[in-house]
Amino acid sequence: MLITKPHAALLASPGMGHLIPIVELGKRLLTHHGFDVTIFVVTTDSFTTRSQILQQTSNVSSLNVVILPPVDVSGKLGPNPTLDVRILLTMAESLPLLRSAILSLKVVPTVLIIDLFGIFALHMARDLGMLSYVFITSNAWFTATTIYAPVIDKEMEDRHVNDHEPLFIPGCKPVQYEDTLEPFVLRGQPMYEGFISAGKDIISADGILMNTWHDLEPTTTKALRDTELLGWISKGPVYAVGPLVRTVTPRSGTEHGHRLKVEDVLRWLDEQPTESVIYVSFGSGGTLSAEQMTELAWALELSQQRFIWVVRPPNEGAEGTFFEVANGGDETPDYLPEEFLTRTHEVGLVVPMWAPQAEILAHPSTGGFITHCGWNSTLESISNGVPMIAWPLYAEQNMNAALLAEELGVAVRANGREGVMGREQILKLVRRIMGEKDGKAMREKVKELKRSAVKALSKVGSSYNSLCQVTKDLEIHLQEKSGGATLAG
Ligand code: UDP
Repeated sequence: MLITKPHAALLASPGMGHLIPIVELGKRLLTHHGFDVTIFVVTTDSFTTRSQILQQTSNVSSLNVVILPPVDVSGKLGPNPTLDVRILLTMAESLPLLRSAILSLKVVPTVLIIDLFGIFALHMARDLGMLSYVFITSNAWFTATTIYAPVIDKEMEDRHVNDHEPLFIPGCKPVQYEDTLEPFVLRGQPMYEGFISAGKDIISADGILMNTWHDLEPTTTKALRDTELLGWISKGPVYAVGPLVRTVTPRSGTEHGHRLKVEDVLRWLDEQPTESVIYVSFGSGGTLSAEQMTELAWALELSQQRFIWVVRPPNEGAEGTFFEVANGGDETPDYLPEEFLTRTHEVGLVVPMWAPQAEILAHPSTGGFITHCGWNSTLESISNGVPMIAWPLYAEQNMNAALLAEELGVAVRANGREGVMGREQILKLVRRIMGEKDGKAMREKVKELKRSAVKALSKVGSSYNSLCQVTKDLEIHLQEKSGGATLAG
């Protein structure tokens, strides 16, 4: 049997923020580009993951999803491991399982597409004769910084790290020190070494995909392909293929198995005026300190604005519930200011732990989003034309906030970096984003971006064309591999 149809194996690392875009990419390759697709999922909680995947893929029956058995890394972690270390170790320990799962398929897939945390699997893909692609589930600016890191001019990096000068990346907006990535701040520590080594692995891949689109970041996307700027760094081409975000499913079922039904939230939204509700959520794992939660609660109450707030127990670490989203969700939050729920019940809906975000952002009553600027949340907001209050917490979120506020003009920026933000400060931001003056301008801009996102994914769009090009690259590889001969299937 001659194999001419590419088969993509995708590998998702733990965390909803990684799983969601990988599944969306898999769906798109299958339904729009005729691939066979197998998604391998590494998880710390297969029950929640399964329900999440089912919900995301209910309209695509031929997607093959393999959830790898969870591995226990607790005995191998040092004291206070960072989130990155926990995920990377889990991925490394899952490699043997992935290898056997791939070998148990009838035919070894054409390509392995990994996210940033699956970097160890690149070597395995090569051993098995597969092409390897990296899907950066973030934007072009972050991609540029990451692939430039291993080849950076050391003198310039010194000035950035020591003297806090901006980091200049050829053809891109400079990165201000206040927005820089954590590894630069932690230079000399394992996190920095890991970042540089990941950068080297990424540039050795056969291709890089990014969850952005050309018209959102035209200059950076061009720089990544221009051999005089950044195009020489990576071995394979760099493609912008987004925005790949969850689309809203019909109104039924529960989200995450929690008792608060999607339907309950949507019914509440149905009763609110158009664009009157501000949605507050810090991603799949984001948490605030007790003091910060109190200030936010007071700001929401004082604003008299309608709101939906996804609350999590306070935590001093900003990513406190990354692995624990499934563990809870129905209890009454007893950490909010006294009587807050009673006083605000007519205007606000408090949702513990996890809310149907894609549905909320797509609802016409939603008019603003207080977000930690995780890239999926950002794309979901833009794709639904919702302006944001950018309140970054960790990872590359400071850069995302800068992009949204300073470059794209679709967000106002919170300043949570200098300790706790007071209620008055938050209140001002809420008024700006929901108000007539700045709010209106941002709303217009974000709706323009929404239209450009739709266009990018359409059959004449840049992201659609990028994936057509990827398909061609893989077909050429298949032809070369077969050498015109017949491949056993
Ligand atoms: N999400 C959700 N409900 C929640 C919190 C998050 O559906 O209560 C989804 C959200 O829609 C997004 C993903 O989880 O698709 C979070 O990804 P993001 O990149 O924004 O942030 P991360 O969680 O990776 O920090």
